[in-house]
Amino acid sequence: MIKNGKFGKYGGIFVPELLIPALEELESAFFKYKDHGRFNKELDYYLREFAGRPTPLYFASNLSKKLGCKIYLKREDLLHTGAHKINNTLGQGLLAKYMGKKRLIAETGAGQHGIATAAVGAMLKMPVDVYMGAEDIERQKLNVFRMEISGAKVIPVNTGSKTLKDAINQAMRDWISNIEDTHYLIGSTVGPHPYPTIVKHFQSIIGKETKQQILEKEGELPDAIMACVGGGSNSIGIFSAFIEDNVELIGVEGGGKGLKSDEHGATLCKGTTGILHGSLSKVLQNKDGQIKEAHSVSAGLDYPGVGPEHSYLKEIGRVKYVAITDPEALRGFQLLSKYEGIMPALESAHAIAYMEKYAKKPENKGKTIIVNLSGRGDKDMFLAAKLLGVKT
Ligand SMILES: *Cc1c(COP(=O)(O)O)cnc(C)c1O
Repeated sequence: MIKNGKFGKYGGIFVPELLIPALEELESAFFKYKDHGRFNKELDYYLREFAGRPTPLYFASNLSKKLGCKIYLKREDLLHTGAHKINNTLGQGLLAKYMGKKRLIAETGAGQHGIATAAVGAMLKMPVDVYMGAEDIERQKLNVFRMEISGAKVIPVNTGSKTLKDAINQAMRDWISNIEDTHYLIGSTVGPHPYPTIVKHFQSIIGKETKQQILEKEGELPDAIMACVGGGSNSIGIFSAFIEDNVELIGVEGGGKGLKSDEHGATLCKGTTGILHGSLSKVLQNKDGQIKEAHSVSAGLDYPGVGPEHSYLKEIGRVKYVAITDPEALRGFQLLSKYEGIMPALESAHAIAYMEKYAKKPENKGKTIIVNLSGRGDKDMFLAAKLLGVKT
């Protein structure tokens, strides 16, 4: 049943043989349920009533006036648990239930995906174990508490750099030993086939809604769409509906301390082809193939890999990828808060900061631009205050 799950040469399955049966089972269940009436009816119910879909496509009138463009924001920040991640956790959580699985496991970096999984686990009455690097647990105590209060168990990972990539490795090990009753709920369009395809499917609701909404509001497609890229799920979610259209698509990576430094998360701008977490894609690695540490002010963009489909979209020239540095992102965070009264997540602030640069170019004057606002900034307030030198 395993097809190769390739995007050009990228993607595929590079895992220990023991995992193959679980990936095959998952693939056939996904293809069985993705167009299944009852499954989709139930998912649609939870997306609306539990998560808060559809999200508005909001016309940012003040910024539009200031920048001389028509700027729209896709408001994923308004969803339950604060970001687009819930679209995928609901989809995969329900899929696991339909597959008869009894337990969910997940990895988390800063905790956003862990929180979304914990919420869905509580709602679907499935126990959740979340693997989290010991380093990240120390930095994100409040998020650990959020997961625990929803009944999830947070398991510290003490191997390697004690961060996200080590947590993914550990979660895969757990899955290998508990394939029968456990679903591994991956949080972005990464990992071996069929994960990049599954996560894209559940996030593509963002693009479908956006297309319908912009046609209602403007009577035509936008000129450009931009979204931040960590693993690549919110961006592929909004891009997917527009790939065949004449719309400029731009992915914005975490430029950290600058692309000339070694401290960034700009995998597509600066990475090379390699294997990480079960698939072939661009990765940040040294010349011996050792995975480097990524850096970004926003935890969600701080990952040394990226979804394989993005590597393909870059290669064929369909999507342009750029990077925004930490200080630029912080400016984006302030800009949207001040002009529109909307505090973006620091991840989303990267897309806002790039939108400002783009709108200021003379050739882009008057264009219609959509920014995917992947999440809200509440989680980042303490960090933003610290970076801006405000005492809290
Ligand atoms: C996790 C996260 C991201 C990055 O993940 P993608 O899979 O690239 O979308 C971006 N924004 C927010 C708010 C997040 O929580």
